[in-house]
Amino acid sequence: MPAETKHGHILLYHRVGDTSQDPWGLTVHPRRFRNQLEFLRAARYPTSLSAMIDVQGTTLPSASEVVVTIDDGYAETTSTVVPLLEAFDVSATLYIPSGAVGQTGEYWWDALEGLILGPGRLPPSISVSVRDRRYLWRLDGWEQWPPSDRFRFAGWRAWVGTPPTPRHQLFTDLWHLCLPLVDTEIWSVIEQLSVVADSQPAPRQDRRVVTDQELRSLAKHPLISIGAHTRTHAQLSSRTPSQQEVEIEGGRRDLQAVIGESPKHLAYPFGKRGDYGPAAAELACLSGFSSAVTNIPGTVTGATDRYHLPRIFVQDWDAAQLGAQVPGRA
Ligand SMILES: [Zn+2]
Repeated sequence: MPAETKHGHILLYHRVGDTSQDPWGLTVHPRRFRNQLEFLRAARYPTSLSAMIDVQGTTLPSASEVVVTIDDGYAETTSTVVPLLEAFDVSATLYIPSGAVGQTGEYWWDALEGLILGPGRLPPSISVSVRDRRYLWRLDGWEQWPPSDRFRFAGWRAWVGTPPTPRHQLFTDLWHLCLPLVDTEIWSVIEQLSVVADSQPAPRQDRRVVTDQELRSLAKHPLISIGAHTRTHAQLSSRTPSQQEVEIEGGRRDLQAVIGESPKHLAYPFGKRGDYGPAAAELACLSGFSSAVTNIPGTVTGATDRYHLPRIFVQDWDAAQLGAQVPGRA
């Protein structure tokens, strides 16, 4: 079989847990994750990213190779994910934004979700300034957010259809406004929202990111490899080339300082075509990374550019649904 007709898949996970609100579909239930790993072990060839990349185009054995990758370094990786990887002898690459390691608060997208789609009451109108521009939203009767409403919309996904309530519209608008901003600007938005909501929700335990010590233990695990995910989880396309270098090379060096070796693989934050550009791929290569993964779906073949590797965004699927997304040998 010619090398370019052989192909494998790289799977993209974020959280493995039990959550009642998941606007970006980032969470796979532990029971489903177990079923997915069981399926991969029985019906596909789970391998490591280094093994897939190093043999790319030469000895990729079949159309059934799969690689598990998990982004953002949520601490539940240690408690929930690793025991399941061990149970099925499946390896994984964890992509970690170095600046988030040991942080006491939540990621900005989680904090935004907690404030807007969480249980708190919001005022009838909400005004937020972003880069000297003022934005205004009206909640039109959705100031209160009783459990019955929150439960009713628990399955809402931010990329599907139009937002069903003004709260969902507010969440979607602010998420997109925050995406290109730098950290200090994003946290200014969240702070403004906290003030108008008169709410400073405590960081949730299930949104916690690994500590230095947990990261060091994970890096020593034989099934785990640590990959880089920039310093601040920046949308690289919104940054100048020198800022991108700080994010990519800085993230690499930060992780090296914690785990004692340089990460070999990089994941572009957010990972869609518009979220990173050619400069990011060049910088990844210059920083010595062997590969960089995107969030663009597709298969990996011998012809795939290793700095634009596609990934399948795994959702809370059963084994059959996962199997349909990662077909085996034809
Ligand atoms: Zn990420």
